[in-house]
Amino acid sequence: MKTVAIIVAGGSGKRIEGNLPKQFLMLGDKPILAHTIEKFEKCDLVDEIILVVPEDHLDYCSQEIVERYSFDKIRRIICGGKERQDSVYIGLKACYDSTSIVSIHDGVRPFITPEIVTGSIKLCQQKKAVIVAVPAKDTIKRVECGLVTATLDRRELWLVQTPQVFEYKLILEAHKKAREENFVGTDDSVLVERMGCEVSVLEGNYNNIKITTAEDLLVAEKLLKAEAGE
Ligand code: C5P
Repeated sequence: MKTVAIIVAGGSGKRIEGNLPKQFLMLGDKPILAHTIEKFEKCDLVDEIILVVPEDHLDYCSQEIVERYSFDKIRRIICGGKERQDSVYIGLKACYDSTSIVSIHDGVRPFITPEIVTGSIKLCQQKKAVIVAVPAKDTIKRVECGLVTATLDRRELWLVQTPQVFEYKLILEAHKKAREENFVGTDDSVLVERMGCEVSVLEGNYNNIKITTAEDLLVAEKLLKAEAGE
């Protein structure tokens, strides 16, 4: 039975600059997505990687990322869907029947560490559904029309990242149910919660940012230097 990482990089958002979606922008000496894949390649518990990319970047990705950096765990490179949830579902359907655990990760989170990837897979071997998250440092309020309507108890709030790791059959079923019911979640674990299943939390690292804006890219350059010990 295999553990498969599904790295979703199927978004075509070009909010930062130029014509390239953000996952292909350079961070130091290589594209953001190549940094992300490298972390999973280094993790012994990951047997295979399925890479989900935008349809118009399929060739670019196989030549300029997979071949160029000689990644050897990538079993399939497939086209994503309209929303992130569609891309994950396409990735799940592309897994072989021998898959027992899947680790779903955003291509734009290059600062995940192989240790957290390993820790989350090990926890999933006992718990079926695991998310990586960090405690909220700021106070979070609900705001409607510019007015505060509630102050949430910070001690209970966590900021949720990826990877999110699941028993394969469970997450496939959760995605199928969400599609049947036209439910679109903001992460994968909410689909499992809707089935009444427990989701365990592994404390991660604040550096595991999602690169979305130009400011994030500046922070990422600094984190990269720190990672390299510069
Ligand atoms: O949209 P968001 O910034 O939350 O994207 C998180 C990850 O999901 C990114 O790596 C992005 O490429 C991926 N994604 C995808 N398919 C989409 C939209 C986003 O694979 N349709």
